[in-house]
Amino acid sequence: MVIIGAGECGGRAALALRDLGYDGPVTLVGDEPHLPYERPPLSKEAMASDAPEIKAIASDAILAEKSIRHIHSVQAVAIDRMAHTVRLSDGSVLPYDKLLLATGSTPRKLPMPGLGARCVYLRTFADALAIRAHLSAGSRIAVIGGGFIGLELAAASRKLGASVTVIEAQPRILMRGVPAEIAEIIHQAHVAEGVDILCGDGIASIADDGKEVRVTLAGGREITADLAIIGIGAVPATGLAAEAGLTIDNGIAVDAELRSSDPDIFAAGDCCSFPLAVYGGRRVRLEAWRNAQEQGALAAKNMLGIGEAHAAVPWFWSDQYGLSLQIAGLSDEGRSTVRRDLGDGAFILFHLAGDGRLVAASGIGPGNAVARDIRLAEMLIGKQARPAPEALGSQAVKLKSLLAA
Ligand SMILES: Cc1cc2nc3c(=O)[nH]c(=O)nc-3n(C[C@H](O)[C@H](O)[C@H](O)COP(=O)(O)OP(=O)(O)OC[C@H]3O[C@@H](n4cnc5c(N)ncnc54)[C@H](O)[C@@H]3O)c2cc1C
Repeated sequence: MVIIGAGECGGRAALALRDLGYDGPVTLVGDEPHLPYERPPLSKEAMASDAPEIKAIASDAILAEKSIRHIHSVQAVAIDRMAHTVRLSDGSVLPYDKLLLATGSTPRKLPMPGLGARCVYLRTFADALAIRAHLSAGSRIAVIGGGFIGLELAAASRKLGASVTVIEAQPRILMRGVPAEIAEIIHQAHVAEGVDILCGDGIASIADDGKEVRVTLAGGREITADLAIIGIGAVPATGLAAEAGLTIDNGIAVDAELRSSDPDIFAAGDCCSFPLAVYGGRRVRLEAWRNAQEQGALAAKNMLGIGEAHAAVPWFWSDQYGLSLQIAGLSDEGRSTVRRDLGDGAFILFHLAGDGRLVAASGIGPGNAVARDIRLAEMLIGKQARPAPEALGSQAVKLKSLLAA
């Protein structure tokens, strides 16, 4: 068994192969110099620390104990599907029976001239260290893109006393997948903390002279910063798969068992698009931590021939200041929403399809306020339940009781 990409998904898949009792060789190949590690802390805890550390998914000792061969700092450069081999950047060749591509995604690049060393992206621990070095009281940070990573970094930068401007070309922040009502709460939290958020104005030009970055907006406004952090989304890492002739469709296209167009090659995590059973097989690609974990474990099962179909409901979270946002399901499947207030300013929006099915739930509140109810909503979504809107909206009705219905 060979796994390309030693991130969240690849790391979990390697461990799962052993947990499932597979005792043949398992090789995990990663182009980063580290043990497989968690990425969510990179925009959260790592920014709050003076000396950020990696949160490893598995230690060297565990990998050794489980006889998982971890080849790091080496890239897989070509797959020979006929010969069943993978060529690595150090010239070595690995044979495989089953191959898992868990190559993740990479930051979408801002297609613009003028970018220099002070214009950065966040994906890896190395990126996080470089960004953290610029965050301090008085530093000026421009965040380009009002998505999750940009906003989490804006929050972290403010906490360290930097002045922060967020630039979002869309009319509001978090346009993708987050209801306007919840995006507004997050917007106001940033404003209350002193972040300047500029929406609805695109970037006309960027000039980075190595000492500072000047961002000029289409509307004429100029922002000068010590660092411009660009967070405008991610693109799936499909180059290796495409070169090998695998079908690509917004990611490496896989079936419900995460098998690509080659029956011996699987793909999972951020890099793949797959049919989501809960929405009638709609093909999606998710960039989410739990999805990467679950798909790593599922791919391991199916590499061993277990034949289990993907059945999970998407789930995502983001932490900014004291607020936690959680979304179960895909809210764009909904046609109407019902709001349930949970107290302390926390609330959940339930998204219902035209036929009354609960298809998503988006919640926000302090700390863990929405976690339990989002978990229950996720189970209702998984069951394709059609709860009465009045029951969803009423605090007097326990969500758990709707599960039994
Ligand atoms: C800063 C940040 C914050 C995040 N916060 C959240 C959050 O709050 N909530 C949430 O749900 N999700 C969050 N995510 C998303 C989550 O971390 C990802 O969905 C998850 O890491 C995807 O796992 P993966 O294994 O598919 O990809 P990755 O974790 O990206 O792992 C892929 C690995 O494969 C390597 N690789 C690629 N090509 C090759 C090759 N040819 N040869 C060898 N190695 C290769 C890459 O370098 C990388 O190490 C965040 C992501 C980032 C970057």
